[in-house]
Amino acid sequence: MTTTPPMPAAFLGHGSPMNALERNRYTDIWRAFGASVPRPRAILVVSAHWYVNATAVTAMPDPRTIHDFFGFPQALFDVQYPAPGIPELAEEVADLAHPDFVGPDIDVWGLDHGTWSVLVHAFPDADIPVAQLSINAQKPPEFHLELGARLAALRESGVLVLGSGNIVHNLRAMDRKQPDACFDWNRRFDSDTRQLLAERPAEAVSLMEHPDYAASAPTPEHFLPVLYLAGMAAAAGQGLDSLVEGSAYGSLSMTCLGLGADCPAVQDNSTGVAPLSRSVPPDESNL
Ligand code: ZN
Repeated sequence: MTTTPPMPAAFLGHGSPMNALERNRYTDIWRAFGASVPRPRAILVVSAHWYVNATAVTAMPDPRTIHDFFGFPQALFDVQYPAPGIPELAEEVADLAHPDFVGPDIDVWGLDHGTWSVLVHAFPDADIPVAQLSINAQKPPEFHLELGARLAALRESGVLVLGSGNIVHNLRAMDRKQPDACFDWNRRFDSDTRQLLAERPAEAVSLMEHPDYAASAPTPEHFLPVLYLAGMAAAAGQGLDSLVEGSAYGSLSMTCLGLGADCPAVQDNSTGVAPLSRSVPPDESNL
C-alpha cells in the first residue's frame, strides 16, 4: 500500500497589492510554490484582510473578488480571480475546529486581496476551489496556534492551507521611496521568527513578547496567519522552512515560509532572469 505524503502548506508574505500585477522575486516564489505542489482538492486561505469578531469560513459556490484597498490604479481594481468556492469544505473545517465554533459565510465575504494577490501567481488558472477562513480578533494568540494544529488534518485530504500576511507589517513606518529597504528592527524580528519557527514552532506565540514585536506588528492581523502555519508545523512535528526572505519599504517583511514544501529556489534578481518590477504604493493607500 502506498501512502500519499501530506499536502504542503505555506505562509506567503503578500506585501503591496500591486504584486498581483507585477513580477519580482517574491511573485516568482509564489509561482514556483504553486507549481511544486500536487494539484489540491481545494485551497483554504487564512488572510490578514479578513480580521473580524468571529471565526467564519466562506461557503458560497462562487466567491466574489473583493478589492479591499484604496489609492491604487484602476488596473488593480479590474483584477478578477474567478475560482469556484467549495461549500462542503466549510463543514469539514467546522468539524475539525469543534468544540470551537466556525460559522459558514454564505453571503458576506469572498476572496480579498490577501488571497487573490498571491493566487493569481501561484494558481493563475483560478480553477481550484478556494475558501477563506477569517481571523477572529476576539481570540487570544493561543487560539490561532491551536486552530492551525487542528486544521493540519486537511493536509491529509488534499487541501492546501495558506496563510497570507506579513511577518513584519508597519504601514506608518514605511519608506515608500526605498522598495528594498529593511529597518534593523524588521531584520531582527524577521530573522528571529524564521529561526524559532524552523526549530520550535509550538512556541510561536512567544514571538509576541519579542522586543521588536510592537514595532513589527503594531496591529496583529498580518502576523496572526503565521500562527496557523506554526500550529500545523507543530502538529506535524516539523519546522517551517524559508522559501524566500526579504523586505520592502523598510517596514514590511516579504518572507515566505513552507511546510513540507519542495519548492526550488528561484534565481536571484542579479541574474536578470526575472524581470524586476517594484512599484511605489501611493502615499494614501493600505496594504
Ligand atoms: Zn496586507
